[in-house]
Amino acid sequence: MATPHGKVFFGNGIVDAHDAKLGVATSAVLYGLSVYTVFPVYVSAQTRTAFRLQDHFQRLLESCRIIGIDTFAQQWTYERFTQVVREVVQANDPQREVYVRATVHVDESIPGTRVRGLSTTVSIFLYDAVPIVPQDGMRLKTSVWRRIPDNAIPSRAKVNGAYVNSVLAKQDAIDSGFDDCIFLDINGHVCELSAANIFLVRNGVLITPDVTSDILDGINRRTILTLAREEGLEVRERVVDLTELYIADEVFVCGTSAGVAPVFQIDGRAVGSAPVLGPVSATLRKRHQDALTGDQAHGWVTVL
Ligand code: PMP
Repeated sequence: MATPHGKVFFGNGIVDAHDAKLGVATSAVLYGLSVYTVFPVYVSAQTRTAFRLQDHFQRLLESCRIIGIDTFAQQWTYERFTQVVREVVQANDPQREVYVRATVHVDESIPGTRVRGLSTTVSIFLYDAVPIVPQDGMRLKTSVWRRIPDNAIPSRAKVNGAYVNSVLAKQDAIDSGFDDCIFLDINGHVCELSAANIFLVRNGVLITPDVTSDILDGINRRTILTLAREEGLEVRERVVDLTELYIADEVFVCGTSAGVAPVFQIDGRAVGSAPVLGPVSATLRKRHQDALTGDQAHGWVTVL
């Protein structure tokens, strides 16, 4: 995690970053019992805009529902969320693109493990928008670690504790000299990366694991699917075998902190288009980039 900018929303208002602290005995600290989302804010001379803010808020609510954190929805509306994001951005006055991390922490200190009815503290901070994977052709490794299944810790919920799974797999990939991992589910089907969704193109068809494949239902994944359909591409969301990636014409990944980044090598095998950006990836990357900052058609951009 990059360093937070100086002013952070924490609890009931904006405080200095070094004063935004959770107790050592809170469930958030002891069990990773916090849910979060990260979205980009773009800065131009005239405006600051957030991308798909309402979808991020909705996913935060849904993460709470899955985990059983019930106090957040009682206290927060989308209007309040937008207003607080606006205040944090104003307080920090960023001069270039930032990522905003909004987290709901279960901040009670109780004996044992439960969640319902426990109080929550929200934190919202900004940090510099730096991509977490190479943008010019990444090399991936199938992980020795399997993705946590929906009936263990659901990937659909963006819950801090679950990111230990991502840490294990990403570190394994780095230790082996790769940029990131490909998670398989317990049956050996493709899920996603440590913090990005994955797409392949074969014979002109865009394919990605469906939302029941133990993935996070990424906001950028949804964006790519919408844009691809608008481009007239045939799109399939379905179970994906690892070896389909080996024979793909193009492979790319997407996510808030990953952007739309091409993959040039998987488990030592060159992807079809490598070392050149494939035509479908290039089109969708451009459409995605345009949408992030200036979307008019879909209502994806919120002026702060
Ligand atoms: N999968 C995982 C596990 C992630 O952490 C992320 C990053 N939030 C994504 C996919 C991409 O999601 P989004 O497009 O909403 O950033």
